[in-house]
Amino acid sequence: MPVRQLPPVSDALEQQQRGWACIWCKIWLPVGLSTDLGQQRVTPETGASYLWFPRECLDTAACAKRAAQ
Ligand SMILES: [Zn+2]
Repeated sequence: MPVRQLPPVSDALEQQQRGWACIWCKIWLPVGLSTDLGQQRVTPETGASYLWFPRECLDTAACAKRAAQ
């Protein structure tokens, strides 16, 4: 399966940056039922770099369908 390019962190909601909501379809993720996409380091043009923690749904087919709506 191709790896999807993560959206820029500036487009992500706070809940998505914290891994509480899916990075693609924005659904609220149940604890333990999501895929960790790995911590991402962002270096803004101004200010200090920071980390964010995108996660996605386990059911990627249903997720893609929701994201396309
Ligand atoms: Zn999703």
